[in-house]
Amino acid sequence: MNDIEIIAYGSTNYVGRSAFVIRDRDRSILLDCGIELVPKQLSRAPVGVDPIAEDLDAFILSHAHIDHSGYIPRLAKKGYKGDYHMTDPTKEIVYKLWLDHLKIEGRRHWSERDLDIVYQKIRTHNYRNKFKIAEGITAEFLNAGHVLGAAQILIDWDGTLILYTGDINDRVTPMFEGYDLPKEKIDVLLTESTNGDRYVPEREKINVGLRLLAKQIAEGGNKMILPSFAVGRSQETLITLALDQDLDDVPIYIDGMINHMNMITEHFLSEKWVSKRFLSKIKEVGMSSPFRKDNFIPVPSLSERTGTSRKYIAKKEEGSIIVTTSGMLEGGPIHSYLELLGTNENNVLGFTGYQVEGTTGRAIYDGEKKVTLFADYGKKKQIDLEMQIMKFPYSGHSSVEGLKLIMEKTGARDIILIHGDKRNQEYILNYVKDIAQPRLLKEGFQEKLRSA
Ligand SMILES: [Zn+2]
Repeated sequence: MNDIEIIAYGSTNYVGRSAFVIRDRDRSILLDCGIELVPKQLSRAPVGVDPIAEDLDAFILSHAHIDHSGYIPRLAKKGYKGDYHMTDPTKEIVYKLWLDHLKIEGRRHWSERDLDIVYQKIRTHNYRNKFKIAEGITAEFLNAGHVLGAAQILIDWDGTLILYTGDINDRVTPMFEGYDLPKEKIDVLLTESTNGDRYVPEREKINVGLRLLAKQIAEGGNKMILPSFAVGRSQETLITLALDQDLDDVPIYIDGMINHMNMITEHFLSEKWVSKRFLSKIKEVGMSSPFRKDNFIPVPSLSERTGTSRKYIAKKEEGSIIVTTSGMLEGGPIHSYLELLGTNENNVLGFTGYQVEGTTGRAIYDGEKKVTLFADYGKKKQIDLEMQIMKFPYSGHSSVEGLKLIMEKTGARDIILIHGDKRNQEYILNYVKDIAQPRLLKEGFQEKLRSA
């Protein structure tokens, strides 16, 4: 038996560029390989991954979000020859996100050629299906309850069981029943800690409020704009609206990459990937897909006509709801809608996700009224925002109770907190102190997981 070590290349006491190597004398595997999105700047790469890429035995991806996946094609560029393990939905979603990244940042980190190499070497696996990743090491995906296809990664390293949560959610959401737990007691738990000191209400409480307000605003002949993350939150929001028959006559416009992600989601509407409860629910109301309703109207993707479509939607004398990207209002169609509708005090902007410090979304969330927009075709314009602001406290991450529960249930003797800011982690350390003494990692340092 050898020592097993871990090195974090990012996402230790902050969120962004998740990349963790686990290795011993003979073998090394990389879990996730993301970039850090920095508001108004270029993204940051995980420092230290390039030199080790060539020596990796395997790469495993927890889920598609770009802070976990954005740097993956760089591995191919730097000489990694092995497979890329992930779930089927993750493969579909991440490919779209990679293409989008190329559009935004060009070939800064990697090129189309690297992407092609990766795509050919992707190996997909279902949840609860063990697969071999190196001599003496197997892995297994467990449902993370976070977004479609998201997995926790359970690794059996010569009998030492290591659980990497990736991003997990303990709350029951429209499509998932919260995170899954391993059947066996594990040795090492590497857990996210995003929501340390934020209260996460039960989903249904938030959903009831959203539906009620959507109805009131639309009935009053006004518009409600819901900027949403393309992967996860927008599907959840749309499903919540789709399942309310009181909204059947309200036009719901869907703009941006959300439409593509909806199509991918439709493709995976089976018990393998979403909850039985959700499938029975849509069957019960006679839907083949929650995104295909008469009142759900996809706005055509960017073309000369898009600007015209958005103007048409804004001018039309009807109450309506617009679900659009980007989730943190950094750019994309939301800017056109704010330009067209933001100066009317009867309209409503409803936040459905966490707004990172430094983003346009965060500024508005905190009360800023003077907003600089880049609407259709990148025209810069400043407006005085008059529309009402509403905040729906959704989160794709586990509540602090859910984090405590996973620590208890897995029985891990060694618990490491990652992917959360310092304040959250301090809160968690105190919150769980009667059942566990988690530790933190220092970026770039080798830390022991098991002694020989
Ligand atoms: Zn995520």
